[in-house]
Amino acid sequence: SPDTGLDQTQARHLWAELAAQVREHQFAYYLRDAPVVSDAAYDALLRRLVALEDAYPQYGLRTPDSPTQQVGGTFSTEFTPVDHVERMLSLDNAFSAEDLAAWEGRVRRELEQAGEDLHYLCELKIDGLAVALLYEDGRLVRAATRGDGRTGEDVTLNVRTIQGVPHVLQGEDHPGLIEVRAEVFLPVEGFVALNEAQVAAGKPPFANPRNSAAGSLRQKDPRVTASRPLRMYCHGIGAMRWAGREQATARQSQTYELLASWGLPVSPHTRVVADRSGIQEMIDHYAAHRHDVEHEIDGVVVKVDETALQRRLGATSRAPRWAVAFKYPPEEVNTRLLDIRVNV
Ligand code: NAD
Repeated sequence: SPDTGLDQTQARHLWAELAAQVREHQFAYYLRDAPVVSDAAYDALLRRLVALEDAYPQYGLRTPDSPTQQVGGTFSTEFTPVDHVERMLSLDNAFSAEDLAAWEGRVRRELEQAGEDLHYLCELKIDGLAVALLYEDGRLVRAATRGDGRTGEDVTLNVRTIQGVPHVLQGEDHPGLIEVRAEVFLPVEGFVALNEAQVAAGKPPFANPRNSAAGSLRQKDPRVTASRPLRMYCHGIGAMRWAGREQATARQSQTYELLASWGLPVSPHTRVVADRSGIQEMIDHYAAHRHDVEHEIDGVVVKVDETALQRRLGATSRAPRWAVAFKYPPEEVNTRLLDIRVNV
Protein backbone atom coordinates (compact mmCIF):
# COMPACT_ATOMS: atom_id res chain seq x y z
CA SER A 1 0.00 0.00 0.00
CA PRO A 2 1.30 3.49 -0.79
CA ASP A 3 -0.42 4.94 2.30
CA THR A 4 2.18 4.09 4.95
CA GLY A 5 3.78 6.22 7.64
CA LEU A 6 0.74 8.45 8.22
CA ASP A 7 -0.08 10.00 11.57
CA GLN A 8 -3.65 9.99 12.82
CA THR A 9 -4.57 13.37 11.32
CA GLN A 10 -3.11 12.49 7.93
CA ALA A 11 -4.77 9.06 7.90
CA ARG A 12 -8.16 10.53 8.83
CA HIS A 13 -7.81 13.21 6.23
CA LEU A 14 -6.95 10.73 3.49
CA TRP A 15 -9.75 8.43 4.61
CA ALA A 16 -12.32 11.23 4.40
CA GLU A 17 -11.09 12.19 0.95
CA LEU A 18 -11.18 8.63 -0.44
CA ALA A 19 -14.58 7.93 1.16
CA ALA A 20 -16.00 11.10 -0.39
CA GLN A 21 -14.69 10.05 -3.80
CA VAL A 22 -16.24 6.58 -3.45
CA ARG A 23 -19.61 8.11 -2.54
CA GLU A 24 -19.47 10.51 -5.47
CA HIS A 25 -18.81 7.63 -7.88
CA GLN A 26 -21.63 5.63 -6.33
CA PHE A 27 -23.97 8.56 -6.90
CA ALA A 28 -22.95 8.83 -10.56
CA TYR A 29 -23.24 5.07 -11.10
CA TYR A 30 -26.41 4.18 -9.16
CA LEU A 31 -28.44 7.39 -9.44
CA ARG A 32 -27.41 9.02 -12.67
CA ASP A 33 -26.56 5.75 -14.48
CA ALA A 34 -23.57 7.66 -15.80
CA PRO A 35 -20.26 6.68 -14.14
CA VAL A 36 -17.31 9.00 -14.63
CA VAL A 37 -14.58 6.39 -14.02
CA SER A 38 -14.15 2.77 -15.14
CA ASP A 39 -15.27 -0.07 -12.87
CA ALA A 40 -11.63 -1.10 -12.49
CA ALA A 41 -10.69 2.40 -11.30
CA TYR A 42 -13.63 2.41 -8.87
CA ASP A 43 -12.71 -1.04 -7.53
CA ALA A 44 -9.11 0.12 -7.05
CA LEU A 45 -10.28 3.19 -5.10
CA LEU A 46 -12.43 1.05 -2.82
CA ARG A 47 -9.57 -1.41 -2.29
CA ARG A 48 -7.29 1.48 -1.32
CA LEU A 49 -9.82 2.52 1.31
CA VAL A 50 -9.96 -1.06 2.65
CA ALA A 51 -6.14 -1.19 2.77
CA LEU A 52 -6.02 2.16 4.61
CA GLU A 53 -8.48 0.90 7.23
CA ASP A 54 -6.45 -2.32 7.56
CA ALA A 55 -3.17 -0.43 7.93
CA TYR A 56 -4.31 1.77 10.85
CA PRO A 57 -6.64 -0.23 13.10
CA GLN A 58 -5.54 2.01 16.02
CA TYR A 59 -7.23 5.06 14.41
CA GLY A 60 -10.65 3.37 14.19
CA LEU A 61 -11.27 4.36 10.58
CA ARG A 62 -13.50 1.35 9.89
CA THR A 63 -16.80 2.60 11.30
CA PRO A 64 -20.16 1.02 10.42
CA ASP A 65 -20.93 3.91 8.07
CA SER A 66 -17.73 3.44 6.07
CA PRO A 67 -18.37 2.69 2.37
CA THR A 68 -16.34 -0.48 2.91
CA GLN A 69 -19.00 -1.78 5.32
CA GLN A 70 -22.12 -0.92 3.33
CA VAL A 71 -23.99 -2.07 0.30
CA GLY A 72 -22.80 0.56 -2.12
CA GLY A 73 -26.03 1.90 -3.54
CA THR A 74 -28.71 4.38 -2.79
CA PHE A 75 -32.19 5.27 -4.04
CA SER A 76 -33.60 8.25 -5.85
CA THR A 77 -36.49 10.31 -4.50
CA GLU A 78 -37.88 10.33 -8.04
CA PHE A 79 -39.22 6.86 -7.33
CA THR A 80 -41.36 5.63 -4.48
CA PRO A 81 -39.07 4.10 -1.87
CA VAL A 82 -39.88 0.53 -0.83
CA ASP A 83 -38.32 -1.60 1.90
CA HIS A 84 -37.16 -5.07 0.98
CA VAL A 85 -38.59 -7.80 3.20
CA GLU A 86 -35.08 -9.22 3.57
CA ARG A 87 -32.03 -7.02 3.10
CA MET A 88 -30.21 -7.31 -0.24
CA LEU A 89 -26.45 -7.58 0.06
CA SER A 90 -23.49 -7.06 -2.23
CA LEU A 91 -20.72 -9.58 -2.96
CA ASP A 92 -17.13 -9.72 -1.82
CA ASN A 93 -14.64 -9.66 -4.67
CA ALA A 94 -11.68 -11.82 -5.62
CA PHE A 95 -9.27 -10.24 -8.08
CA SER A 96 -6.77 -13.10 -8.36
CA ALA A 97 -6.42 -16.87 -8.01
CA GLU A 98 -4.86 -16.20 -4.57
CA ASP A 99 -7.88 -14.17 -3.40
CA LEU A 100 -10.15 -16.99 -4.56
CA ALA A 101 -8.04 -19.67 -2.86
CA ALA A 102 -8.12 -17.64 0.37
CA TRP A 103 -11.93 -17.45 0.23
CA GLU A 104 -12.27 -21.15 -0.53
CA GLY A 105 -9.85 -21.99 2.30
CA ARG A 106 -11.89 -19.91 4.78
CA VAL A 107 -15.11 -21.64 3.72
CA ARG A 108 -13.53 -25.07 4.16
CA ARG A 109 -12.03 -24.23 7.56
CA GLU A 110 -15.31 -22.77 8.78
CA LEU A 111 -17.26 -25.88 7.78
CA GLU A 112 -14.63 -28.44 8.66
CA GLN A 113 -15.87 -29.86 11.95
CA ALA A 114 -19.10 -31.10 10.46
CA GLY A 115 -17.23 -32.66 7.52
CA GLU A 116 -20.20 -32.26 5.22
CA ASP A 117 -20.40 -32.63 1.51
CA LEU A 118 -19.62 -29.23 0.02
CA HIS A 119 -20.29 -28.10 -3.55
CA TYR A 120 -19.79 -24.84 -5.38
CA LEU A 121 -22.31 -23.35 -7.75
CA CYS A 122 -20.48 -21.30 -10.39
CA GLU A 123 -22.40 -18.64 -12.30
CA LEU A 124 -21.60 -15.80 -14.61
CA LYS A 125 -21.58 -12.37 -13.04
CA ILE A 126 -24.09 -10.55 -15.19
CA ASP A 127 -23.23 -6.90 -15.73
CA GLY A 128 -26.68 -5.49 -15.13
CA LEU A 129 -28.60 -4.17 -12.15
CA ALA A 130 -30.06 -6.01 -9.20
CA VAL A 131 -33.79 -6.11 -8.54
CA ALA A 132 -36.05 -7.94 -6.09
CA LEU A 133 -39.42 -9.24 -7.28
CA LEU A 134 -42.06 -9.89 -4.66
CA TYR A 135 -44.59 -12.63 -5.48
CA GLU A 136 -47.57 -13.14 -3.20
CA ASP A 137 -49.61 -16.28 -3.80
CA GLY A 138 -47.93 -16.55 -7.19
CA ARG A 139 -48.68 -12.98 -8.31
CA LEU A 140 -46.06 -10.33 -8.99
CA VAL A 141 -47.04 -7.53 -6.61
CA ARG A 142 -43.88 -5.44 -6.50
CA ALA A 143 -40.41 -5.01 -7.99
CA ALA A 144 -37.68 -2.81 -6.58
CA THR A 145 -34.07 -1.90 -7.28
CA ARG A 146 -31.47 -2.86 -4.65
CA GLY A 147 -30.93 0.72 -3.44
CA ASP A 148 -28.93 0.72 -0.20
CA GLY A 149 -29.92 -2.88 0.43
CA ARG A 150 -32.72 -2.04 2.87
CA THR A 151 -34.69 0.38 0.73
CA GLY A 152 -34.94 0.35 -3.03
CA GLU A 153 -36.92 2.13 -5.73
CA ASP A 154 -40.34 0.93 -6.80
CA VAL A 155 -40.00 -0.13 -10.45
CA THR A 156 -42.95 -2.54 -10.55
CA LEU A 157 -44.54 -1.15 -13.71
CA ASN A 158 -41.18 -1.08 -15.49
CA VAL A 159 -40.28 -4.67 -14.56
CA ARG A 160 -43.71 -5.84 -15.74
CA THR A 161 -42.76 -4.75 -19.26
CA ILE A 162 -39.65 -6.97 -19.41
CA GLN A 163 -40.00 -9.92 -21.74
CA GLY A 164 -39.96 -13.25 -19.90
CA VAL A 165 -40.95 -11.89 -16.48
CA PRO A 166 -44.08 -13.78 -15.38
CA HIS A 167 -46.85 -11.69 -13.84
CA VAL A 168 -48.32 -14.91 -12.48
CA LEU A 169 -46.22 -17.96 -11.61
CA GLN A 170 -46.93 -21.24 -13.40
CA GLY A 171 -48.03 -24.35 -11.55
CA GLU A 172 -50.15 -24.78 -8.43
CA ASP A 173 -47.74 -25.01 -5.52
CA HIS A 174 -46.30 -21.57 -4.59
CA PRO A 175 -45.13 -19.86 -1.44
CA GLY A 176 -47.49 -17.35 0.15
CA LEU A 177 -44.65 -14.87 -0.23
CA ILE A 178 -41.32 -15.01 -1.99
CA GLU A 179 -38.72 -12.40 -2.87
CA VAL A 180 -36.91 -13.40 -6.04
CA ARG A 181 -33.59 -11.67 -6.68
CA ALA A 182 -32.53 -11.13 -10.23
CA GLU A 183 -30.35 -9.17 -12.59
CA VAL A 184 -31.90 -7.01 -15.29
CA PHE A 185 -29.66 -6.60 -18.32
CA LEU A 186 -29.52 -5.63 -21.97
CA PRO A 187 -28.29 -8.47 -24.17
CA VAL A 188 -25.34 -7.33 -26.29
CA GLU A 189 -27.44 -7.72 -29.45
CA GLY A 190 -30.20 -5.54 -28.02
CA PHE A 191 -27.65 -2.96 -26.93
CA VAL A 192 -26.22 -2.71 -30.43
CA ALA A 193 -29.71 -2.36 -31.94
CA LEU A 194 -30.69 0.25 -29.36
CA ASN A 195 -27.61 2.32 -30.11
CA GLU A 196 -28.22 2.12 -33.85
CA ALA A 197 -31.73 3.44 -33.22
CA GLN A 198 -30.39 6.21 -30.96
CA VAL A 199 -27.92 7.35 -33.59
CA ALA A 200 -30.55 7.15 -36.35
CA ALA A 201 -32.80 9.38 -34.23
CA GLY A 202 -29.96 11.88 -33.83
CA LYS A 203 -29.48 11.03 -30.13
CA PRO A 204 -26.19 10.20 -28.41
CA PRO A 205 -25.41 6.45 -28.13
CA PHE A 206 -25.25 4.76 -24.71
CA ALA A 207 -21.81 4.04 -23.26
CA ASN A 208 -22.29 0.38 -22.33
CA PRO A 209 -24.99 -2.28 -21.79
CA ARG A 210 -24.93 -2.01 -17.97
CA ASN A 211 -25.64 1.69 -17.80
CA SER A 212 -28.19 1.62 -20.59
CA ALA A 213 -29.98 -1.27 -18.82
CA ALA A 214 -30.08 0.72 -15.59
CA GLY A 215 -31.20 3.86 -17.41
CA SER A 216 -33.84 1.91 -19.34
CA LEU A 217 -35.31 0.32 -16.23
CA ARG A 218 -35.24 3.44 -14.06
CA GLN A 219 -37.65 5.41 -16.23
CA LYS A 220 -40.60 7.43 -14.96
CA ASP A 221 -42.57 6.35 -18.02
CA PRO A 222 -42.77 2.53 -18.22
CA ARG A 223 -43.54 2.82 -21.94
CA VAL A 224 -39.93 3.86 -22.49
CA THR A 225 -38.78 0.75 -20.57
CA ALA A 226 -41.13 -1.38 -22.67
CA SER A 227 -39.43 -0.12 -25.84
CA ARG A 228 -36.01 -1.34 -24.66
CA PRO A 229 -35.04 -5.01 -25.21
CA LEU A 230 -34.33 -5.77 -21.53
CA ARG A 231 -34.04 -9.31 -20.14
CA MET A 232 -33.75 -10.76 -16.66
CA TYR A 233 -32.14 -13.80 -14.98
CA CYS A 234 -32.92 -14.84 -11.41
CA HIS A 235 -29.96 -15.56 -9.11
CA GLY A 236 -31.34 -15.96 -5.63
CA ILE A 237 -34.19 -15.65 -3.19
CA GLY A 238 -34.72 -13.45 -0.17
CA ALA A 239 -37.62 -13.77 2.23
CA MET A 240 -39.94 -16.74 1.78
CA ARG A 241 -43.08 -17.85 3.57
CA TRP A 242 -44.37 -21.19 2.46
CA ALA A 243 -46.75 -23.07 4.74
CA GLY A 244 -45.12 -26.24 6.04
CA ARG A 245 -41.66 -25.49 4.59
CA GLU A 246 -38.61 -23.95 6.21
CA GLN A 247 -36.63 -23.52 3.02
CA ALA A 248 -37.28 -23.66 -0.71
CA THR A 249 -34.77 -26.44 -1.47
CA ALA A 250 -31.59 -27.96 0.00
CA ARG A 251 -29.40 -26.48 -2.72
CA GLN A 252 -29.25 -23.17 -4.52
CA SER A 253 -28.97 -25.01 -7.86
CA GLN A 254 -32.26 -26.79 -7.06
CA THR A 255 -33.84 -23.46 -6.21
CA TYR A 256 -33.06 -22.31 -9.76
CA GLU A 257 -34.82 -25.42 -11.09
CA LEU A 258 -37.81 -24.60 -8.92
CA LEU A 259 -37.88 -20.97 -10.12
CA ALA A 260 -37.63 -22.18 -13.72
CA SER A 261 -40.55 -24.57 -13.14
CA TRP A 262 -42.64 -21.52 -12.18
CA GLY A 263 -41.69 -19.85 -15.46
CA LEU A 264 -39.03 -17.53 -14.04
CA PRO A 265 -35.96 -17.00 -16.29
CA VAL A 266 -32.66 -18.44 -15.03
CA SER A 267 -29.23 -18.43 -16.63
CA PRO A 268 -28.23 -21.43 -18.77
CA HIS A 269 -24.55 -20.85 -17.84
CA THR A 270 -24.35 -22.37 -14.35
CA ARG A 271 -22.24 -25.32 -13.17
CA VAL A 272 -21.98 -27.22 -9.89
CA VAL A 273 -18.40 -28.30 -9.08
CA ALA A 274 -16.79 -30.08 -6.14
CA ASP A 275 -13.51 -28.24 -5.66
CA ARG A 276 -11.18 -25.39 -6.46
CA SER A 277 -10.04 -26.86 -9.77
CA GLY A 278 -13.67 -27.03 -10.93
CA ILE A 279 -14.08 -23.36 -10.10
CA GLN A 280 -10.89 -22.53 -12.00
CA GLU A 281 -12.10 -24.45 -15.06
CA MET A 282 -15.27 -22.34 -15.15
CA ILE A 283 -13.23 -19.14 -14.83
CA ASP A 284 -10.80 -20.19 -17.57
CA HIS A 285 -13.58 -21.32 -19.87
CA TYR A 286 -15.46 -18.02 -19.74
CA ALA A 287 -12.28 -15.96 -19.85
CA ALA A 288 -11.85 -17.46 -23.33
CA HIS A 289 -15.57 -17.40 -24.24
CA ARG A 290 -16.69 -14.19 -22.62
CA HIS A 291 -17.95 -12.72 -25.87
CA ASP A 292 -19.93 -15.83 -26.81
CA VAL A 293 -22.37 -15.10 -23.99
CA GLU A 294 -25.58 -13.22 -24.81
CA HIS A 295 -24.89 -10.56 -22.15
CA GLU A 296 -21.82 -8.75 -20.82
CA ILE A 297 -20.08 -10.37 -17.87
CA ASP A 298 -17.54 -8.97 -15.47
CA GLY A 299 -16.66 -12.15 -13.65
CA VAL A 300 -17.77 -15.46 -12.18
CA VAL A 301 -19.83 -15.71 -8.98
CA VAL A 302 -19.03 -18.74 -6.82
CA LYS A 303 -21.63 -19.77 -4.23
CA VAL A 304 -21.73 -22.59 -1.69
CA ASP A 305 -24.52 -24.71 -3.15
CA GLU A 306 -25.89 -26.29 0.05
CA THR A 307 -28.37 -23.88 1.64
CA ALA A 308 -27.81 -25.30 5.15
CA LEU A 309 -24.10 -24.51 4.80
CA GLN A 310 -24.92 -21.03 3.49
CA ARG A 311 -26.86 -20.40 6.68
CA ARG A 312 -23.97 -21.61 8.80
CA LEU A 313 -21.52 -19.32 7.06
CA GLY A 314 -23.82 -16.29 7.39
CA ALA A 315 -23.02 -12.77 6.23
CA THR A 316 -21.18 -9.58 7.14
CA SER A 317 -22.91 -6.19 7.06
CA ARG A 318 -22.40 -5.94 3.31
CA ALA A 319 -21.97 -9.41 1.81
CA PRO A 320 -22.64 -13.12 2.37
CA ARG A 321 -19.65 -15.22 3.48
CA TRP A 322 -20.86 -18.11 1.33
CA ALA A 323 -20.31 -16.37 -2.01
CA VAL A 324 -17.58 -14.48 -3.81
CA ALA A 325 -17.35 -12.64 -7.12
CA PHE A 326 -14.21 -13.39 -9.10
CA LYS A 327 -13.61 -10.35 -11.32
CA TYR A 328 -11.89 -10.67 -14.67
CA PRO A 329 -9.18 -8.10 -15.28
CA PRO A 330 -10.42 -5.15 -17.34
CA GLU A 331 -10.23 -5.97 -21.02
CA GLU A 332 -7.13 -4.68 -22.70
CA VAL A 333 -8.30 -5.71 -26.15
CA ASN A 334 -10.58 -2.70 -26.45
CA THR A 335 -7.94 -0.17 -25.54
CA ARG A 336 -5.48 -1.83 -27.89
CA LEU A 337 -8.03 -1.68 -30.70
CA LEU A 338 -8.69 1.90 -29.81
CA ASP A 339 -4.96 2.69 -29.93
CA ILE A 340 -4.72 1.13 -33.35
CA ARG A 341 -7.68 3.13 -34.58
CA VAL A 342 -6.27 6.32 -33.14
CA ASN A 343 -2.88 5.62 -34.72
CA VAL A 344 -4.38 4.94 -38.12
P1 NAD B 1 -20.95 -6.26 -7.27
O1 NAD B 1 -21.57 -5.85 -8.53
O2 NAD B 1 -19.49 -6.49 -7.30
O3 NAD B 1 -21.66 -7.56 -6.69
C1 NAD B 1 -22.99 -7.65 -6.24
C2 NAD B 1 -24.00 -7.70 -7.31
O4 NAD B 1 -23.68 -8.62 -8.32
C3 NAD B 1 -25.35 -8.18 -6.85
O5 NAD B 1 -26.07 -7.17 -6.20
C4 NAD B 1 -26.00 -8.59 -8.15
O6 NAD B 1 -26.72 -7.53 -8.66
C5 NAD B 1 -24.85 -8.82 -9.08
N1 NAD B 1 -24.83 -10.14 -9.73
C6 NAD B 1 -24.61 -10.34 -11.06
N2 NAD B 1 -24.64 -11.62 -11.36
C7 NAD B 1 -24.91 -12.29 -10.21
C8 NAD B 1 -25.06 -13.66 -9.90
N3 NAD B 1 -24.94 -14.62 -10.82
N4 NAD B 1 -25.32 -13.98 -8.62
C9 NAD B 1 -25.42 -13.03 -7.67
N5 NAD B 1 -25.28 -11.71 -7.90
C10 NAD B 1 -25.02 -11.34 -9.17
O7 NAD B 1 -21.18 -5.22 -6.17
P2 NAD B 1 -21.94 -3.86 -6.15
O8 NAD B 1 -21.88 -3.48 -4.74
O9 NAD B 1 -23.23 -3.92 -6.84
O10 NAD B 1 -21.14 -2.79 -6.98
C11 NAD B 1 -19.94 -2.86 -7.40
C12 NAD B 1 -19.94 -2.93 -8.92
O11 NAD B 1 -20.40 -1.75 -9.50
C13 NAD B 1 -18.52 -3.12 -9.31
O12 NAD B 1 -18.41 -3.82 -10.51
C14 NAD B 1 -18.08 -1.69 -9.46
O13 NAD B 1 -16.95 -1.59 -10.28
C15 NAD B 1 -19.31 -1.07 -10.06
N6 NAD B 1 -19.37 0.33 -9.71
C16 NAD B 1 -18.74 1.18 -10.53
C17 NAD B 1 -18.73 2.54 -10.26
C18 NAD B 1 -18.02 3.47 -11.20
O14 NAD B 1 -17.94 4.66 -10.91
N7 NAD B 1 -17.53 2.99 -12.33
C19 NAD B 1 -19.36 3.04 -9.11
C20 NAD B 1 -20.00 2.14 -8.27
C21 NAD B 1 -19.99 0.78 -8.59
